[in-house]
Amino acid sequence: AIASGPVARRASRSAKIVYGKREIIVGGSAPVVVQSMTNTDTADAIGTAIQIKELARAGSELVRITVNNAEAAAAVPAIREQLDRMDIDVPLVGDFHYNGHTLLKDFPDCARALSKYRINPGNVGQGAKRDTQFAQMIEMACLYDKPVRIGVNWGSLDQALLARIMDENAQRAAPWSAQSVMYEALITSAIENAVRAEELGLAGDKIILSCKVSGVQDLIAVYRELAKRCDYPLHLGLTEAGMGSKGIVASTAALSVLLQEGIGDTIRISLTPEPGGDRCKEVVVGQEILQTMGLRKFTPMVIACPGCGRTTSTVFQQLADDIQTFLRDQMPVWKKQYPGVENMNVAVMGCIVNGPGESKHANIGISLPGTGESPAAPVFIDGAKAMTLRGDNIAEEFHAIVLDYVKA
Ligand code: SF4
Repeated sequence: AIASGPVARRASRSAKIVYGKREIIVGGSAPVVVQSMTNTDTADAIGTAIQIKELARAGSELVRITVNNAEAAAAVPAIREQLDRMDIDVPLVGDFHYNGHTLLKDFPDCARALSKYRINPGNVGQGAKRDTQFAQMIEMACLYDKPVRIGVNWGSLDQALLARIMDENAQRAAPWSAQSVMYEALITSAIENAVRAEELGLAGDKIILSCKVSGVQDLIAVYRELAKRCDYPLHLGLTEAGMGSKGIVASTAALSVLLQEGIGDTIRISLTPEPGGDRCKEVVVGQEILQTMGLRKFTPMVIACPGCGRTTSTVFQQLADDIQTFLRDQMPVWKKQYPGVENMNVAVMGCIVNGPGESKHANIGISLPGTGESPAAPVFIDGAKAMTLRGDNIAEEFHAIVLDYVKA
């Protein structure tokens, strides 16, 4: 028999991230969590709350916000309040660099309003101050009972640690490559800081790790090794993945390999938005990676052929796009009204070559008339031909059929 599917999920502890009655579990056997990050000025409480609402509605299960100065820290409770008014209970993660120890101490309402802290061990301070400031942040996490992500990034790696590992490497009989030294420094930084956090009193099930890099092969190599060396839940993300299709392809390539190997408990797709572009795209891409890999279901899947010389009009592309947008837009309401609707597949095909065959595999499928074919569009429901649509209103009629199917 030929088996399919990812290998068994890596065994890990699980961390609980809580806001009110909302509990998001990262790790263990919990589904892989999709998260995102705002790009508004956190000090702008209204603008940030609006973007968080959009990200949460798009399906982001955690939203990270930068907390970079006193104004931002002061705005966090107001952001939470705005979200509560809008009935958005997504847990918020505070992203701290350089001054997190001070902000968490000076703004206790901010420390309480956040559901999790992200600490970058490379940006906690230098020398003796580093250990003290790291300890102060962990102390705040213990005090407010918050989980922490120890998020290492190769753009801000702890330079003292890197120097130490380079020295150790120089003593080796067969020194490693510069690339291996960098990988080792990233992994060591994450694990040593996690162990230190536990020594300082943070429970082991309140720690999540990440080691983000921007190269696909680097990310795969680092996470494979990190996954072997610890059982903390892992946050996956290709940092600075880039814009447009490059960012999507690079993130998908890297994360798919790791997820297929059972590595990764939460993901964030770091896309650079086009000017004026939609921040929610990174959430959609994250969901689509998990859904197309069969790891989670978020929204009904639309299967569409690429089109070819047999489709000289754009009717079928338009219909596929309309149906996909329509289904995605309905999901916040539908997932409560029609449990299981996310399992549905809809096929929109451009002609009879693969149209009827593919349509039969879907819950609902339509095969539009290709060039030279009779102007008829057979519709298949649960594998059987149910009707044939003709005329100028095929798109509207198909829309109505999909809606009726969902309601039924
Ligand atoms: Fe072309 Fe028809 Fe195949 Fe679509 S289903 S790609 S229109 S041959």
